[in-house]
Amino acid sequence: MAIKSLKDLNVNGKRVLCRVDFNVTRDKKTGAITDDSRIVAALPTITDLASRGARVILCSHFGRPKGREAALTLKPVAENLARYLGKPVAFADDCISEPAKKAAAALKDGDVLLLENLRYHEGEEADDKAFAQQLADLADCYVNDAFGAAHRAHASVCAAAKLFKDRAAGFLMQKEVEYLSKALKNPEHPFVVILGGAKVSDKIQVIESLLPICDTLLIGGAMAYTFLRAQGLPTGKSLVEEDQIETATKLLLIAKAKHKKLLLPVDHVVAEKLEKGVPSETVAGDKIPAGQMALDIGPKTAVAYAAEIAKAKLIVWNGPQGVFEIEPFDKGTTAVAKAVAASKATSIVGGGESVAAVKKAGVADKITHISTGGGASLEFLEGQTLPGVAALQ
Ligand code: AMP
Repeated sequence: MAIKSLKDLNVNGKRVLCRVDFNVTRDKKTGAITDDSRIVAALPTITDLASRGARVILCSHFGRPKGREAALTLKPVAENLARYLGKPVAFADDCISEPAKKAAAALKDGDVLLLENLRYHEGEEADDKAFAQQLADLADCYVNDAFGAAHRAHASVCAAAKLFKDRAAGFLMQKEVEYLSKALKNPEHPFVVILGGAKVSDKIQVIESLLPICDTLLIGGAMAYTFLRAQGLPTGKSLVEEDQIETATKLLLIAKAKHKKLLLPVDHVVAEKLEKGVPSETVAGDKIPAGQMALDIGPKTAVAYAAEIAKAKLIVWNGPQGVFEIEPFDKGTTAVAKAVAASKATSIVGGGESVAAVKKAGVADKITHISTGGGASLEFLEGQTLPGVAALQ
């Protein structure tokens, strides 16, 4: 069923409850916002609503508070947002009850209000109907622009959304759903999927979902070593999920039966332990020494993967190819990031760590679509219906 776009809503003079993802990164000691990209990502929706005369009521979760944890107030976010909008942003000390009702009633057309952290109330994560009703009572219509929270069946994205006759996706939500749906339903070929990260178990469903529709699957990161073990190769002290070796064997067989190219590293950067400055060396694919752990794909693998990436028309990337946070084990991931950036293909990068890797490589602006939702984009690519998307239908 179709989802209404923000443009389909007549918002002039209306109170609009807009769920955003303001779960920003902050300094644990000072509380200062260190990465406000989630605020920036929501600006097109907020400015569109305000410029069309809506009375904008923003709500979001922030961290995982146990009750009203002062450190997890959204107040600094209201101040940050006000700077971007170039006008005041009102703040309500609670997301429901008197403070929220009073602040919402005081809004004039075009005004913006931010409600306090939704997770100060247990009803949010419990998808509680009564809590959702109190949120819904604040507004006339509803917009969800929080793709990063769409995989959670929480009150502000589920129960509350369904209480509005007029509900729509914000621009960010719409863009995310459009890009990811296109990859699943109408991919351009060659379609190259790059997977990495720590665990095979986290990515099995996404492999099962994408293997039938992609042409090439490039596997790096720690998850590659479970696949190497499935091929009977030595992996030394590398991270291997013993209980996933059978699944990896099955996936290798499926890839073969479906004539898909599934590439594994042909060389590795190994070290005795995972530590900055530890001596490391490059070894061939089948030669990981017993006392060593593989912490990055090697240069030959990077070249081979880049060659596949160069042929692609569509690229989906989730998961770093090595321990990119620690030098020199960032080289493989950086090489892949640069290859993706250089390609003319539509490129979609999802998952918090891969997005961080793309930013670290300085090529974020060369990626067609960087997904703002790590867990949400992974679940979407697994073929799951996200509760927050379903609630808009
Ligand atoms: P994920 O959240 O599953 O995408 O995993 C990301 C994490 O996997 C990053 O923090 C990487 O440091 C880690 N990682 C990637 N490759 C390896 C490897 N070869 N050995 C250990 N950890 C790895």
